[in-house]
Amino acid sequence: MDRNAGIELVLVDFDDTLVATAPRFERARDELFRLLAGQGFAEAAARALHHDIIDPDMRRQYGFGPHRLAHAFRETYARLCAGAGRAPDPALLERCAALGRAVVGTPPAIDGALAALRRLAERLPTALFTQSGNARYQLECVRGAGVLDLLPEDRIHVCAHKTTAAFAQALAHFGVRDPERAWMVGNSVRSDINPALESGARAILVEVENPWVYDVVEPIHNGFPRVPSFAAAVDILLRLADGR
Ligand SMILES: [Mg+2]
Repeated sequence: MDRNAGIELVLVDFDDTLVATAPRFERARDELFRLLAGQGFAEAAARALHHDIIDPDMRRQYGFGPHRLAHAFRETYARLCAGAGRAPDPALLERCAALGRAVVGTPPAIDGALAALRRLAERLPTALFTQSGNARYQLECVRGAGVLDLLPEDRIHVCAHKTTAAFAQALAHFGVRDPERAWMVGNSVRSDINPALESGARAILVEVENPWVYDVVEPIHNGFPRVPSFAAAVDILLRLADGR
């Protein structure tokens, strides 16, 4: 058996696998809904409008990442006003946008995640695979988090949207010949696990406490481990590499 037990590549997700992005998004959304409730808009209706209609539309226009939030927050208020036959208050429109803008910047690293990435990268061919509507901004977050101290920049792969096609493209980009010998580690069934399984690759789900509603979909099958942290995923991969 070769040194890596046949593992050609480990792709690692960034947001909510190595750094805590979703809690900041959720806190900002909670503030938005509190602000809107103060204006007489019921929270359940505001949440449904935001999650089901406005945020998907803003993801199409501005891509994944925090830059869409200022637009989405403003639009949620504007659309609620339109539905109620009220004119939106310009100062409040601006307050909504400001709540969204406050989310921009490098998210904090998750405890133990970067040390685990170092252990992984020292032992197995490792690359970061992340999605964002703004590749330059995302690379700055990756740098700000300290990932470039552990992986060279040519091992960072940013795509606009983590689809199955984008996953296959990432494997090709890193010269993987046999998808079965590639692994994806990430927190999203939709964006990390299903594209990998559909491509014939292996996957490990890092479960997070309050997953983003968008990420919660059924896996195409259940033949993958679920672990409580990225460090636990690295333990599995290193045991495999050791043939244990
Ligand atoms: Mg993620």
